[in-house]
Amino acid sequence: MSHSPMSMASPTAPAVYTWEATNDAVAAKYGVPVDQILRFDLNTSPAPPDLVARVLAANRFETSLSEYPPSDYARLSEAAAEVYGVRRSEVLVGAGADEILDMIAKAFLAPGLSAAVAVPTYSMYRVVSEQRGARVIPVPRLGVDQDYAIDVDATRTAAREAALVWLCNPNNPTGRSERPGTIVRLLTALAADAVEEGRRPPAVAIDEAYAEFTGESAIPLLGTYPDLVVIRTASKAYALAGLRVGFALARRETLEKIEPYRPPGSVSTVSVTVVTAALRDRGALEANIERVESERVRLTAMLGEIGWDVHPSVTNFLLVGFGDPARAERVADGLLHRGLVPRTFPMGHPLNAFLRFTVRAPHENDRLIAAAREIATEESAA
Ligand code: PMP
Repeated sequence: MSHSPMSMASPTAPAVYTWEATNDAVAAKYGVPVDQILRFDLNTSPAPPDLVARVLAANRFETSLSEYPPSDYARLSEAAAEVYGVRRSEVLVGAGADEILDMIAKAFLAPGLSAAVAVPTYSMYRVVSEQRGARVIPVPRLGVDQDYAIDVDATRTAAREAALVWLCNPNNPTGRSERPGTIVRLLTALAADAVEEGRRPPAVAIDEAYAEFTGESAIPLLGTYPDLVVIRTASKAYALAGLRVGFALARRETLEKIEPYRPPGSVSTVSVTVVTAALRDRGALEANIERVESERVRLTAMLGEIGWDVHPSVTNFLLVGFGDPARAERVADGLLHRGLVPRTFPMGHPLNAFLRFTVRAPHENDRLIAAAREIATEESAA
């Protein structure tokens, strides 16, 4: 999902849905050689672990590539269950977290129902909810001075009308996590409100795409709230976005509501095999997280020295404030002409005076720092 200036409408989805501009499209538009394009907009992690090369070289896939992948993704689910500390029957595999979000929307939403979304946040919650014909109730997060935390009271109010509540922790694009205890407090309140009003509490989906960077998770709460789904992915801290593997973790009776919407074999045998190995390689994950964290500190300091207002982040991306939308647009344009693609926010978005940047590999971040310096010099000369 993109709000970048270079996006294309999908032919089938509602008008709000747009695809990412490809590297080829950005290169053509800004007159930059395609091999010079660097994506700072997609929150991927640098340097996929060596294990990918090892697994592919060994060519020992769980099933032959001439056959379909195992329909239950049993070994992958087993590996995920171990990593996340749940039963295998509490894991559902999808083609990236995005397919999981789509399945959750199909399971819990329909025309006439509503979904509460703590905003600003990842846009796909709104997209998949609207695609089901559901009404979206945006619940503004608290301000920057309160770390863009979820507004528990306002979420409670919205949840009275909602069949599903979408939360993201740590949150994209703000890059911060909830204070300890907030999620428990919210779930307890949602359950109590429902009992008081004699109705079933809404389903709650907590997207933890970036949770490896903090180590905090709502997984231990799965037993405490009826329809709680935690979403995880191999795309971020595992640095395997191209393989498209994500997970829903939930109690068995909740997964049974989602499973009917799981497409058969949407995750390839190559992805199944590599991600199973990645989940079993703790060392590779920890090395990725350390690389991202040290680069996050360096990039924050270097961009700060140049005068950019870099907000604190617990994730693999940085939100940078530029004071007003026109300046954010000028900086984005300057970066795009140098082949560097920032995440932009559209007109009317509460963060449209900001740009968001993925923390990439050191030599790639160096290009961003050099470009930021040049743009700052141009700005002061203007
Ligand atoms: N959730 C969040 C919060 C994200 O930021 C992203 C990717 N930008 C996704 C889900 C999608 O992840 P995946 O690659 O697993 O589909």
